[in-house]
Amino acid sequence: MKKNDQIRALLRATEAMSQGNFAFDIPTGDDEIGQLGKSLEKLSNYLQKQLERNQSLYRIMVECNHNLHLIDVLNHIYESFQDHLPYDRISLALLENEGSKLKLHWSRAKYDPLILNTGLTIPTTDSSLLAIINPGDMLIIDDLNVHLQKYSRSRLTQAIFSEGIRSCLICPLLADSKPIGFIFFSSRMKNVYQGLHLHQDLALQIASQLSVLIEKNQLYRGVKLNKQLKAQKKSLEQRVTHDALTGLLNRPAIFDILHRQIQRAKRGGYGISIIMIDIDHFKIINDTYGHLAGDAVLCEIANRLSQSARSHEYIGRYGGEEFLAIISPYNQDGALRVAERFRNAVAGKEIHTKETFVSVTISLGVAIGTEAETLDEQLLLKKADEALYQAKHKGRNRVELANLQ
Ligand code: GH3
Ligand code: MG
Ligand code: MG
Repeated sequence: MKKNDQIRALLRATEAMSQGNFAFDIPTGDDEIGQLGKSLEKLSNYLQKQLERNQSLYRIMVECNHNLHLIDVLNHIYESFQDHLPYDRISLALLENEGSKLKLHWSRAKYDPLILNTGLTIPTTDSSLLAIINPGDMLIIDDLNVHLQKYSRSRLTQAIFSEGIRSCLICPLLADSKPIGFIFFSSRMKNVYQGLHLHQDLALQIASQLSVLIEKNQLYRGVKLNKQLKAQKKSLEQRVTHDALTGLLNRPAIFDILHRQIQRAKRGGYGISIIMIDIDHFKIINDTYGHLAGDAVLCEIANRLSQSARSHEYIGRYGGEEFLAIISPYNQDGALRVAERFRNAVAGKEIHTKETFVSVTISLGVAIGTEAETLDEQLLLKKADEALYQAKHKGRNRVELANLQ
């Protein structure tokens, strides 16, 4: 090739390289221009590797951001960096129990069998790692044989040595500048990591991406746990305050509300009304259709009552087939209207059981406390009960008002 053609070819290749294209042929030879070609070829190889390395790192970074599965990311790392970092084995170990234990979470190697296997947990006192590594620094072991003589009791070192590993590059994984684990790159050859600044830099970048992912994973697990605990607490509270069969407030819970509403009414100078509710001839339903059908009817009535209650009206299961409603503050007309609303909600439509449709009604006794002396739990309950008895006596499926004067 003529000199001018050689120079033109070199120029074309350089231009292409500056555009990220490394596919151009570079003329090489023993003359000066040929030597320049050889140097350019080396530079091209180096830049190409750098580009691939950065692309791999970028892919890992994207994956760490989108993929919460640590194992997938680790497998990806193992497959992506073979050409950029020498290793026969990669392992990830995480600190547990506030740093007192080191657990091998994942490992993959080019050989079989692995003696140092995933799941193995060792006390950190057994490992030389924490003593010799500074947070943020990496540890390079050039000759594991020499290292083993110094730390002959380290089970980790013994095991990895017996697999044939002879040198290691170990990077700590950090969260808030504290070590949370380590990533190990290991080779069956001695001295492969020494002096390779590019390799060391790459290993540190991989470690930093993994640290972010692990921290995110732990945070995510924490958030999930918190949600589960909150849900459990809610269901426990629900069980303590609600009746298991009907889902209404249970007797202690509705009594507690009655107590607090009376206190509030006294402080505010207004009245409250309570309604005692009892299902009419419920025994006949049980006797005719059986106890299970009776339960279903009871639930449907409870459902209708709570559906027709406004948000400031409380309904609880007072006893077997009796309910207590607390509605406040209401005057006489208002209280009777609410009681009628409840009565209609039950009597208005037949209830469908497995076997048949049944007409069910309720009787209601209303008591209104207005003055200091009538705002009394026991008195109101007694009076509402008496009014309910009156409603039963007068033919059922009706509302009666207690006289508290
Ligand atoms: P009245 O109109 O006078 O109130 O007549 P009644 O039959 O409703 O009244 P009584 O007090 O004679 O009977 C109430 C029945 O309610 C008896 C009891 O077995 C039934 N009962 C109470 N709790 C439950 C329950 O949880 N499930 C079922 N299926 N029945 C219940
Ligand atoms: Mg009863
Ligand atoms: Mg009854």
